[in-house]
Amino acid sequence: MLRVHAGVSGRHARKAVAETVSAAAATPTADEAAAARDRLAATVERGGALVWGVADADAFDDAPEGFRPADLLPGARRVVVVGGSPPRAADWASPVHEHLETMGTSDRINSLGLKTAKFIEAEFGYYALFVPPGVRRGNRPFLSVALAAELAGCGSRSLAGPVLHPEYGLLFYSAIVTTYPFPVTPPLAEPACPAPACVEMWEAEGATPCTRVCPLGDGGCLDGRIENGRLVERRYDAARCTSRVYTHWIPGFQKGLELALDQEDPEARKMVLYSSHFTKTLWSMTYAAQSQGQCWECMRVCPVGAEFRQKA
Ligand code: SF4
Ligand code: SF4
Repeated sequence: MLRVHAGVSGRHARKAVAETVSAAAATPTADEAAAARDRLAATVERGGALVWGVADADAFDDAPEGFRPADLLPGARRVVVVGGSPPRAADWASPVHEHLETMGTSDRINSLGLKTAKFIEAEFGYYALFVPPGVRRGNRPFLSVALAAELAGCGSRSLAGPVLHPEYGLLFYSAIVTTYPFPVTPPLAEPACPAPACVEMWEAEGATPCTRVCPLGDGGCLDGRIENGRLVERRYDAARCTSRVYTHWIPGFQKGLELALDQEDPEARKMVLYSSHFTKTLWSMTYAAQSQGQCWECMRVCPVGAEFRQKA
């Protein structure tokens, strides 16, 4: 049994735990790991994942120290990623923009992520840590799920920002850090962005659909450069985008609360707190949890996944 004594520093304690975990975990054979991977795939697909993948826990060099898989789970070997829950085609087609805003799509994929963690622990007897939504210190997520999705081959980063799957385009992702050595699925050989149509448009006009709809140099947030069919530079105004995407939800709540606290007149304070803007913000936070975007325009025009977004 591992004992961590008072006075043993956090770093040394974590190292000791990691050594204990890896010593305790018997390594399955390649056949056993492949069979486990097939069971995992069947389970997550049945649970609603459109895509899934497995990243090597040692491949997160681009993540800052303290925010890598083994920082969250001693002895971590893999990061399982499940993706899905995009808005439906009808949500994109509806002229009532609130449909896109209130689908709470990342809730559903997080619920699948949590179930997947439980499945791995129950079925294989290895640690499986669901990466929670939200932020740790410095407003950073516990682990970059976007990086995990890229490393696991679920998609690639785009000029507009989100990880895009070549067939489905924008998806929501959830990640599970585990000590079980599932076979790794490699990153995409060909990035999903820029799409061939975007390369053509870039060569003709020096813009892509997403930079055209939200141009950094003209009040928008996106700019970039494509060379030889590849995205070589991306510029993004995160603050401006956040103020448009999260008009409601946590940034909207913080803004609304600040405004309310600034009101000396109780009636004016009430007007802020009971306004439809503040009420929508509370709906967004309490019922729909994590993902509540109010701007989807760069994704609406993106050719990646466009067919998936269209029905008769
Ligand atoms: S989400 Fe909206 S504001 Fe943000 S980059 Fe896309 S189009 Fe621009
Ligand atoms: S429209 Fe989509 S595929 Fe084209 S450059 Fe923008 S994000 Fe990439």
